Amino acid sequence: MSSELKISKEGLKDIAVTLDSYRIRVLVDAKQEILDSGIYNEEQYDQMLFKMFDEELLKYKLLNYLSNPDSNNFKTIKKFSDSNSIEIRKTLSLLELLRNENLIEVNKIYDTVEGDEKTPESTSFKDLVIEKYNVDPSKVKSVYEPVKTIFETHNCSGCGLCVGICPVNCLEVYNGFGKIDEDKCIKCGLCYFVCPRSYLPVSVLNMTQDKSSEIKNYSQVGHYLEAYSARTKLNDIAKVCQDGGITSTCLHYLFDSKMIDLAIGAKMSNTPWRPEPIILQSKEDILLTAGTKYVNNPNLKVLREFNNNQSILAVVGVPCMMQALLKSAVYNIGIPSLNQIKYRIGIFCMESFSYESLLKICEILKVNVNDVKKTDINKGKFFVYTNSGEELTVPIKEIGNLAREDCEVCFDLTSESADISIGSIGSPSGWNTVLIRTETGKELYSKLIKNDLIESKALADVKPGLPLLERIATSKRNKCTKHIDKKKDENVRFPRY
Ligand code: SF4
Ligand code: SF4
Ligand code: SF4
Repeated sequence: MSSELKISKEGLKDIAVTLDSYRIRVLVDAKQEILDSGIYNEEQYDQMLFKMFDEELLKYKLLNYLSNPDSNNFKTIKKFSDSNSIEIRKTLSLLELLRNENLIEVNKIYDTVEGDEKTPESTSFKDLVIEKYNVDPSKVKSVYEPVKTIFETHNCSGCGLCVGICPVNCLEVYNGFGKIDEDKCIKCGLCYFVCPRSYLPVSVLNMTQDKSSEIKNYSQVGHYLEAYSARTKLNDIAKVCQDGGITSTCLHYLFDSKMIDLAIGAKMSNTPWRPEPIILQSKEDILLTAGTKYVNNPNLKVLREFNNNQSILAVVGVPCMMQALLKSAVYNIGIPSLNQIKYRIGIFCMESFSYESLLKICEILKVNVNDVKKTDINKGKFFVYTNSGEELTVPIKEIGNLAREDCEVCFDLTSESADISIGSIGSPSGWNTVLIRTETGKELYSKLIKNDLIESKALADVKPGLPLLERIATSKRNKCTKHIDKKKDENVRFPRY
């Protein structure tokens, strides 16, 4: 039974004070400012408040449970889940919240699995060790700070979700950098709560994708069900697409079969090669989004426009956006626009650039940005194809310093949190690599085949295939670990994965 049926709204604030839930008290206190902003109506506000209340109640129940020194391992956490009729993944997500609030420490213990000539040594999960700190929760304040701290410490991925859900519309992210109107901010911390760079329970995200109750090691490209190499059979898309056109073909099918009302993606703005978010209304809009864009674009900020309609949505975005959406689904706090997303279509991303950096790359290649027809990253090089047919390249190593500093702490190459992930690495030229991650993604892909919209082969049957994809994914992970370690050494903020 939800709290809505058990308690009155008037009693909620008192209970929040008793629980010392900073998050609930702020939302209750700022009700009028939130309604005046017009982002959420009163019914939606109530729904979010009660949903958050349920979550907080469960979180404090878990904290109490952990007071028993015998309740500090995986088995007892499983027992808590069973007695509260929740998935163990939910309990693990709450543990991550408590850890982020500095109320507990959680460590995973692994066994070493010996290797042989064919298989390298590996590890397997053994147990959790949970330590509850002897602190008064009311003295540990206020971890749900605005994402200003994420912007200022160069950890912001530029996904735009904080802007998309802020209840008083006081945030903006543009060209990969965020700004906050401090006078309007009610310090509710919702932005921090959904942000993929504040803390991200990666193992819970993997378990959610996998529908698993076990903590496992996943491959360098995350959990997936099937892997393919594919290209579109639709001529209009084939003519304009960067590689195999599978992302556009997914959208084409979803619009055509009325599985979605609208889609969120990126298109070029009037400024050449500066992308901007687009809300696609029909399959005719798909061609506007074709081609890879390497300049950061906060697609998810347009979600603020969806709270007051009932549209079914597909979102196309890079890995950090897929992480933000899956994290928000795990900690569902009833934000209406997020509940309307039915398809997460992730694209591969190695790094992104600010617009100014893209202009610098053009300067290095001695090309005017207005003459650029297509850009690509392939085989360790940045390619620019011009309107007059020239192919210009610069090694990525030479322009690595121009990539966004904030992308250095990103570990995910292949959109591990999407329903279906699409990129070019691993497939021959003119084809896409496709990783099917969830049943939703699997059903969508099977419909593309059934409706004769794509050519599809097993990724295992093409070269360079999965080995190359895994190698590049490992290299991105290693680089991320190096940058996070550097931040730790310098005692500056880093994302908690
Ligand atoms: S900026 Fe963040 S903390 Fe401030 S009101 Fe918006 S969501 Fe809340
Ligand atoms: S990572 Fe996304 S949610 Fe976090 S601060 Fe940046 S734009 Fe906002
Ligand atoms: S490298 Fe990571 S953080 Fe940067 S844009 Fe790509 S997915 Fe987002």
